[in-house]
Amino acid sequence: MNRNLFLILMAFIWMSCSTTGQNLPQGKSSVTGDKIVPISKPDTAWKRILNPEAYSVLRQGATERPFTGKWLQNNSEGEYVCAACGLVLFQSDTKFDAGCGWPSFYEAIDKSHIVEIPDYSLGMKRIELRCARCGGHLGHVFKDGPKPTGLRYCINSVSLDFVPENKKTK
Ligand code: FE
Repeated sequence: MNRNLFLILMAFIWMSCSTTGQNLPQGKSSVTGDKIVPISKPDTAWKRILNPEAYSVLRQGATERPFTGKWLQNNSEGEYVCAACGLVLFQSDTKFDAGCGWPSFYEAIDKSHIVEIPDYSLGMKRIELRCARCGGHLGHVFKDGPKPTGLRYCINSVSLDFVPENKKTK
């Protein structure tokens, strides 16, 4: 292969794999009903893909400061996807104002897209939520949400990207 062509190809592959974790290509959501194939990457790869805040929340389980997240006040119609892998997680019509400082939803778009893990940290008993595909930390779910589910999926904005209704692929 021509050396220049090879270098251009390699640069294209590198660019298409490199995101900040907050600017995934639009339409990278996965439709519901798809079989979830887990993604496993070494820590060094996640550090390259995610910006420092996204890395600390998604890969280290940190929590963003309340009332600071970019999606807290977002009232546009569309889907929220995992900021690390693009898996579709929530629909805008299940988002509600919980007053807690983090984007809140009363229902996941597909239960199989989110893994629930008992979390006994900070002296509390909570249910942690992780992306079923990449294992990224999303937030926690509480049983004080509105009808019809009574659940409050309390999610870090930095763990989410937003795909507006008119940019969805399905
Ligand atoms: Fe993910």
